[in-house]
Amino acid sequence: MSLYIKNISLIIFIICGFLIFLVNAIELISNYKNIKPLKNIHLSQSTSDIKDTPNTNKVEKKDLINNLSKNLKKVENKEKIIIVKKDQTFSSILDNFNIENKKKFEIINEINSFFDLKELKVNQKIFFLINNKEEVEKIILELNFNTNLVVDLKSNIKIEKKELETFSEIKSQEYLITNSLYADGIKNNIPNQILIKLIQLFSFDLDFQRDIQKNTKVSISYEKIFVKNKSEYSFGDIEYAEITIKKNTLEYFKFLTDDGFTDYFNREGKNVKKSILKTPLDGARLSSSFGLRKHPISGFNKMHKGVDFAAPIGTPVYAGGNGIIEMVGINGGYGKYIKIRHNNEYKTAYAHLNSYRKGISKGVRVNQGEVIGYVGSTGRSTGPHLHYEIIYQNKQINPLKLKLPSGKILKGEELARFEKNYKMILSNHLHNLFE
Ligand SMILES: [Zn+2]
Repeated sequence: MSLYIKNISLIIFIICGFLIFLVNAIELISNYKNIKPLKNIHLSQSTSDIKDTPNTNKVEKKDLINNLSKNLKKVENKEKIIIVKKDQTFSSILDNFNIENKKKFEIINEINSFFDLKELKVNQKIFFLINNKEEVEKIILELNFNTNLVVDLKSNIKIEKKELETFSEIKSQEYLITNSLYADGIKNNIPNQILIKLIQLFSFDLDFQRDIQKNTKVSISYEKIFVKNKSEYSFGDIEYAEITIKKNTLEYFKFLTDDGFTDYFNREGKNVKKSILKTPLDGARLSSSFGLRKHPISGFNKMHKGVDFAAPIGTPVYAGGNGIIEMVGINGGYGKYIKIRHNNEYKTAYAHLNSYRKGISKGVRVNQGEVIGYVGSTGRSTGPHLHYEIIYQNKQINPLKLKLPSGKILKGEELARFEKNYKMILSNHLHNLFE
C-alpha cells in the first residue's frame, strides 16, 4: 500500500516537473520572438541645435540637417523651420529674418520665376539655414512631396529645383461594393487619389448608377511612392483594375505605348479608353449646344460650332484625349484658348479659360484626363463657361453626336511587349493578394 502511494507521488512529482519545464520553455520562445532585428530602429540623434521646429518628424529633421549641413560649418549653423499659416505671405515670413529690404525683394523676384509664391499652401514647410552672424544662407521650400526649391544666398542668389530620390511599391487590394464604388473603397482604405483615377478609368465602360450591383467585386493594384529619408508618401498610377459587371469581367492593364503615352488596355491589347471625351470637365451643366443660335453678345443668328458647359471659374478642364498641345494663348473672341492635336484627323479646342495649368505650352504631350487649364470667362463671353470644340478633318463637329472612334489596338511587336508586361502585372497582383 505504501509502495503504491510512493509510486503515485513520484508520478505526480514527475508531471509537475514537466509542467514547470514546459511553462519556462514557452516563455523562452516568446521572449526570443520579441527580439526583432535592429535594422528598423532609427537611432535618435541630438537635435538640440534646432529651434522652432514644431510638428516635424524626428527622422526627417535629422536627415535634412545632415543633408543640408554637409558644406557648412557644423556647429555654427542653425536651422529654422517655418510652417506656412493661413493668409501668411512669403514676404511676411521673410520679415522674421535679418534680411535687408532690397535683398528681400530680389529673393522674392528670383523665386517667382521658378515657383509662384502666391501658391504657397497652408502647412507647406520652409527651411531657413542661418549662420553664426545671424544671416540666412539658404532657404529651402518644399514644392511637393518629392521636389525642393533650394535658394542659396551665400553670395549671389542661386536657385535650384531638386528632385528627391523616390522609390515605389505596388499595393494590391480587393473589395466588395455594398454601397458605392467610392464609399466602399474609402471604407477599405483605398487612397482617395486612386479611387478618383479608378472612377475615371471605369467611366468609359460603366454607367455607375445602372451597372454596379450589390456585392460587385473590385480588384486593384496601384503604386505607392516614398521619398528617401522622408515619412511622406504619395500614390502613382493604377497598374491593374478588374470589375465584373453582369458576368462580364472588365480588365485594365497599364501600358506605356511606343509613342510614349501611359494608357490602359485589356488582355487582347485593345485600348479601353475611348479616344475623345465628350465632356472634358466634372460637374458641369450643358448650357448651349452645337448648331444655329442667336449669339448672346452680337444678337445675330450664328452657327455655334462647339458646346458650352457652364461651370464655376477655376473648375479644372481635362485634355479630351491623348495628344500634343498645338496652341496655347489668347485667340480673339475665344479669349484664353488651348488646342490639342490628337492624331491626323482629330483635334479639340478649349476657350474662355481663366488660366492654363503650369507647364502647358506648345509641343507638350498630354494624356487624356490630365488637367490643362481652368474654366473662366475671357474673350467674348457672358459668364463663366467652357466652350469645347471637337475638330474632325479641320471642321468643327458636334461633340455630343460624335460616334467615338474606338481606341488603339496593339499589334506586332508592341502587342508582344504588352503581353509580357500584362502577365507580369497580373502575377504581381495575384502574388500581393494571396501570398
Ligand atoms: Zn460656345
